Amino acid sequence: MISVAMDGPVGAGKSSVARESAKKLGFIYVDTGALYRGVALYTVRKGVSDSDESFAEKVEALLDEITVEIKIENGEQHIFLCGEDVSEEIRLPKISMVASSVSQIPAVRAFLLELQRDIAKKNNVLMDGRDIGTVVLPEAQVKIFITAAPEIRAKRRFEELVNKGVETTLEQVLGDLNRRDYQDSHRAAAPLKMAEGAVLLDTSDLTFEQSVESVVGLVKKAMQL
Ligand code: C5P
Repeated sequence: MISVAMDGPVGAGKSSVARESAKKLGFIYVDTGALYRGVALYTVRKGVSDSDESFAEKVEALLDEITVEIKIENGEQHIFLCGEDVSEEIRLPKISMVASSVSQIPAVRAFLLELQRDIAKKNNVLMDGRDIGTVVLPEAQVKIFITAAPEIRAKRRFEELVNKGVETTLEQVLGDLNRRDYQDSHRAAAPLKMAEGAVLLDTSDLTFEQSVESVVGLVKKAMQL
């Protein structure tokens, strides 16, 4: 099996570039952020707030009740939370920051680890997240750290949200993005960082097509070796 690990900060184009590159390669695309978002949605529904002092303990206690599954339907990833398809709901901006908060809890990371590794055992995957090259799939044949300047990432994210009908402003998006990146890169458990042996792909000056071409090129080159 071939594994491609793609990590990077918010809005670097990970999911869109990863999805299209996986399609071109005939690999399964796995968006691991959706798993953390699933756990976050469950905690929000249970009324647990990430400003609670005992947030980590409360979330840990909820893990026994949670089942998160990934299913590929018509080539698209769907996330099921306790049997319910929550693929749309987990994308709401209010879930993003809570996802970043639950992802700091080591028990949550451990809870989702095997699920991610299992998929890669059975399929050629292009998996994106924050710790895929460092923790989840350290043996991945190709590791890519995808990034872009913060203003560019915020603009892309803003356009993506507006297209989905979410009401927000560019300032709001940039603020959220910076807060989440800071939290994701400074946590003790599996912080966002470039994996050893990863290729840095800065998409600031690349079009979407050029970014996809770069990823596909890197994977094809590695497969010929
Ligand atoms: O990728 P996405 O923005 O959907 O991820 C939501 C949150 O989940 C991130 O801010 C990050 O805190 C967390 N995450 C993680 N490890 C991953 C993927 C996502 O900690 N592999």
